[in-house]
Amino acid sequence: MTAYVLACSGLRVLMLEAGRHYDPVAETPMFHLPRDAPLRGGGTRHKPFGFYDATVDGGWEVPGEPYSSAEGTDFRWWRARMLGGRTNHWGRISLRMGEYDFKPYSRDGLGFDWPLSYDDLAPWYDKTEALIGVYGSNEGLENTPNSSPGVLLPPPAPRAEELLTRHHCGDLGIPVIPAHLAILTRRLDAARIARTLWPGNALAQRVTEESMAARAACFYATPCGRGCSIKANFQTPTVLLPPALATGNLDIITDAMVREVTIDARGQATGVHYIDRNTRLDEYAGARVVVLAASACESARILLNSKSSLHPDGLGNGSGLVGKYIMDTVGAGVGGQIPALENMPPHNADGASAMHLYMPWWLYQEQARGQLDFARGYHIEFGGGRRMPGFGFMGGLAELTGGSYGQRLKDECRRYYGSFLWFDGRGEMIPNEDSFCEIDPEGVDRWGIPTLRFNWKWSSHELNQARHMQHTFADIIQAMGGRVTSDVHDDGARAIAAPGVIIHEVGGAMMGDDPRTSVLNQFCRSWEVDNLFVTDGGCFVSNADKNPTLSILALAWRASDYIVEQLRTRSL
Ligand SMILES: Cc1cc2nc3c(=O)[nH]c(=O)nc-3n(C[C@H](O)[C@H](O)[C@H](O)COP(=O)(O)OP(=O)(O)OC[C@H]3O[C@@H](n4cnc5c(N)ncnc54)[C@H](O)[C@@H]3O)c2cc1C
Ligand code: SF4
Repeated sequence: MTAYVLACSGLRVLMLEAGRHYDPVAETPMFHLPRDAPLRGGGTRHKPFGFYDATVDGGWEVPGEPYSSAEGTDFRWWRARMLGGRTNHWGRISLRMGEYDFKPYSRDGLGFDWPLSYDDLAPWYDKTEALIGVYGSNEGLENTPNSSPGVLLPPPAPRAEELLTRHHCGDLGIPVIPAHLAILTRRLDAARIARTLWPGNALAQRVTEESMAARAACFYATPCGRGCSIKANFQTPTVLLPPALATGNLDIITDAMVREVTIDARGQATGVHYIDRNTRLDEYAGARVVVLAASACESARILLNSKSSLHPDGLGNGSGLVGKYIMDTVGAGVGGQIPALENMPPHNADGASAMHLYMPWWLYQEQARGQLDFARGYHIEFGGGRRMPGFGFMGGLAELTGGSYGQRLKDECRRYYGSFLWFDGRGEMIPNEDSFCEIDPEGVDRWGIPTLRFNWKWSSHELNQARHMQHTFADIIQAMGGRVTSDVHDDGARAIAAPGVIIHEVGGAMMGDDPRTSVLNQFCRSWEVDNLFVTDGGCFVSNADKNPTLSILALAWRASDYIVEQLRTRSL
């Protein structure tokens, strides 16, 4: 996002990307069926999300780039080494943080407040949604903000299992509303949006309009995690990089692994050292402004590895907070089988590759009255139904039927196909001082760069929340007349997904109002190094239940506008 905004604003930009070049248009196996792939497309250690997943050289393990964990920590760090990073295969769930989410400390005395409010960021949420294309609806629910009129694309119609779930959740008082996903349900009105986003900037209007006009609407072809060759979903290489490159202001060097930011005698950033992964040579790129956007923990790693006499504990780390207060999302899930969905007549269950409906957090008032034993909320993502059969399809059938083969097996597959649902909670983690990353004194990666060591601790808020999730999902399944097919734990420590597994890690360079208690100001600018910015999830002060990427993009756009303004007024 930073490269797009700066290039469109007329600045010369050099982007260094550790991974290889990646072109979703040429490389997405759009029409390949799971049955055509090894293991029927199933996941392996080196391809956790399946054979066709877009991830290159990534996952919880990156070849030659290890990380370690302190004793008792099981943090798992997901990375992708490819142009566009994890935006190539993310879930596209794009939820705005709300008014409460920016001021959590003021509400319950836990964690920290952001140095900005929802209203400060709202214009950039609008701009980001308009640019990338997000479907959804405005429901006016508590702490679930509306977008400005005309910004969202129409949501797709709910599927059978989603309608049934909505019906029964109504009885439990759980709202079920259209999900927000960065997928085009119709072509974007390219000329109008480009004019609105870039008033008075003819170059930015032209490149944005041309790039937007080249995007088709989703035709529900394939799981989005493979990437989208028709550019219908948001991924950086199809949505942000083409217009940025078309300005003529952006150069990209791939296979460039940044290891350190350099500074001059005054302590200003002068550029970066990077390893050319093909030649293994140490290279240097100078710059007037340095922006790190290597993902939250990787940017912390670069800062911590950038030591000098002026910054002996790492660049911009006078507060000692670089790497501190990292957060993931709380996750727990439960599956069920719903007899009412058995023997559905064959029908077209196509749709976007993720959910069309979801449940936003609904117990704010109960929580404020102290009726829950955890402080922050979660939303519910759910799926199932008659999707394209993949690896593990009908895996639990024998437990349900006692086992069968031949004609009876076929009949039972037809009967039960589409009757399984899975509910996943995505909840807020409160930052704590035991969850942080630091440089491992003993580890280096294959480029000789010191690696990270993770420390982690959940508080009772996260553990109790995970337990609440599982019990709620079991209640929903039972309300639907179904049977729960997975474990439901009373012990939150058994219910909660391991840290890092939800892949929403943020923090490590938190923003704030005070240089003593934060790393960045509210425009993602280092307090100590004027011309250094961090525009990934590192700046997060809290990690609301809202999946982070839309907020990362909006904050990055706001920070980039600030950079442009500071350069224009010669304040930088
Ligand atoms: C399977 C999956 C599903 C997800 N679903 C959702 C979802 O539905 N909604 C949501 O909001 N979020 C989701 N996420 C999280 C989302 O992908 C991340 O929040 C988002 O991509 C973070 O963006 P980023 O630019 O900070 O980091 P990344 O996307 O990781 O990009 C960082 C880039 O920097 C490069 N890089 C790293 N280190 C260096 C270095 N030293 N030098 C040079 N380059 C470097 C990387 O190669 C990469 O290209 C999901 C993630 C995964 C993996
Ligand atoms: S579901 Fe739609 S947006 Fe996703 S990859 Fe397929 S065509 Fe593209």
